[in-house]
Amino acid sequence: MGKRKKADTVGQIAGKDNFQRMNFLYQMAHTVMSVNPNNAQLARYYTSTLKRISKNCVQRQDPSVKRTICKRCDSLLIPGVTATVRIRAKREKHVVVTCLECRMVRRFLARKDYQLWTELPTSLGSQRKTTGATDKKDGSERIADKKNHSETISSSIEGKADQ
Ligand SMILES: [Zn+2]
Repeated sequence: MGKRKKADTVGQIAGKDNFQRMNFLYQMAHTVMSVNPNNAQLARYYTSTLKRISKNCVQRQDPSVKRTICKRCDSLLIPGVTATVRIRAKREKHVVVTCLECRMVRRFLARKDYQLWTELPTSLGSQRKTTGATDKKDGSERIADKKNHSETISSSIEGKADQ
């Protein structure tokens, strides 16, 4: 009974039970593959169920999960086992992930300053992760900005003195 109360106070995330189901299915798919890589068919069943749940409940998967599931055949993409991962420098630098089951190719840009939607400051997930740390960071950045500003002022004064 005590456990139940605790769960009620903690469970403030909408559709938490669905997230738990998705989490379980994803972990099961990985476990089944780690036990025996020939269990790809079973892992695919878990991942396809995961995808169906997320679709029906309109709950988005984190990119770290979504990028490890093949879009075409739903197989779990494990580098070196069910997928190949290569970095290509042609055009813009990008990562190419190929599913060994159906040969589906996915490309992800490898930009330095690129932020995923989960990492954006407006995203709920990122706020939960870094609530305390953001204030400190902002403060230090501000100080750094001030320093830069003063440096630029001093340099401009020096420049004027030289002229
Ligand atoms: Zn595939």
